[in-house]
Amino acid sequence: MKKKLNLLPFVLLLAFISCSAPGDQKENRKQRIIFPITEVNSDEIPIGKSTIAFVGVSLIDGIGESSIKNASVIVSNGIITGIGETGILQIPEGAEKVNGEGLTLMPGLIDAHYHNAKNFPTIYLKRGVTSLRDPGIWIEDYDSQRQNGDPLPRLFLTGPHLDMPPPTWPKDCYVVRDKAEVKAAMDFLIGQGSTAIKIYHRLSLGLIEEVCKIAHKHGLPVTAHLEITDARQAILAGLDGVEHVTSLGTALISRKKAEVYRQRIMANSEERKPGRYEMWKDIDVNSKAADSLINFLVEHQTFLTPTLGTFEYRLEPEKHDSTAAEGFTNMMAFIGRCAKANVRIVVGSHGPWSKYNKRGWTYQYEMELLAKTGMENMEIIKAATIENARFFKVDHRLGSVEKGKQADLILVEGDPVADIKAMYNVKRVMLNGAWVE
Ligand SMILES: [Zn+2]
Repeated sequence: MKKKLNLLPFVLLLAFISCSAPGDQKENRKQRIIFPITEVNSDEIPIGKSTIAFVGVSLIDGIGESSIKNASVIVSNGIITGIGETGILQIPEGAEKVNGEGLTLMPGLIDAHYHNAKNFPTIYLKRGVTSLRDPGIWIEDYDSQRQNGDPLPRLFLTGPHLDMPPPTWPKDCYVVRDKAEVKAAMDFLIGQGSTAIKIYHRLSLGLIEEVCKIAHKHGLPVTAHLEITDARQAILAGLDGVEHVTSLGTALISRKKAEVYRQRIMANSEERKPGRYEMWKDIDVNSKAADSLINFLVEHQTFLTPTLGTFEYRLEPEKHDSTAAEGFTNMMAFIGRCAKANVRIVVGSHGPWSKYNKRGWTYQYEMELLAKTGMENMEIIKAATIENARFFKVDHRLGSVEKGKQADLILVEGDPVADIKAMYNVKRVMLNGAWVE
């Protein structure tokens, strides 16, 4: 016999949930970590078995405001077990000692936006990138690199990004058309171990909201290449991160111009390439609209991966597109303003390809470009380490030199706080407490 359910308590509960302030919901969402986020290759990364003592280093721990001179750090079984002043911190007997003279010890670099090519993950690792996020590739596309035995950074993969038809990158994307397809795609992505969800620019606002709702239930961050959706609307729909400075363009121009741009890109994705420079050339980075967007990003604690190197354009005798050059100048100026206002900027290289630097040095080059916006070197280093760890939701174990954290560490010759170019001089890299040779 069927018993009729009394639904009243449930209705009241639902009413209570939907009446709570949006701020409360955001708070709840941030605290709700359901599954720990794990890199897809965590079982393949060896754990260092020995005890290693860094003695007399200049330490950038990723948390403090300045570096600590003459510090010592002990690593044992893959974990940072001791930090202190040289001469006072007890070095365990039998520890392998590393003379830190002239060297800076700092957390391994984290790349928020890497696209894969050949053996570059290994090259990146040797240059200090101990973790990377590839925001938009099928997880199996890393299989051959994972199987060939070369050391790799921690791989935080999102799986294919989500887009609507016609997709801009068909091979790297999962096309969804409605909520049911979003649900199916999300079940698949979460089931296969995606560590974040990346959405692409055609995804409608309603579906962005749906993606965020499901991702947050599972503790996963959502980040986006927006281009044609107003960043504020997408953030209000739940977005945690914005990829590329260009994703903010339509939030900085009039509604009328933004709609014209949106329709142009919807008709042909390729139009975004000239279109974004045309748009940015006319953006006044000191306007009220810019102030308001910056305040909004700060208030919502949104992570921003500018990938400036992707958009850089220099006027040269054979390259004289002044629109692109002026557009890029305004992108730099806007990021400079964001940095001053404490928007949560993180470092992403966008992969090894580089217009104005040697291939494979794009991460270090992005740090240089951030310095050129006026961002402080220490802030850039934090953007490269602890802020990215927070963006990835792994800051409880990575991103800083603190007792109890996993020993992803790099030794840099010179002082990157004084000169960010020192980041090109990575001398040794430790991943999980083991040297990368
Ligand atoms: Zn990308």
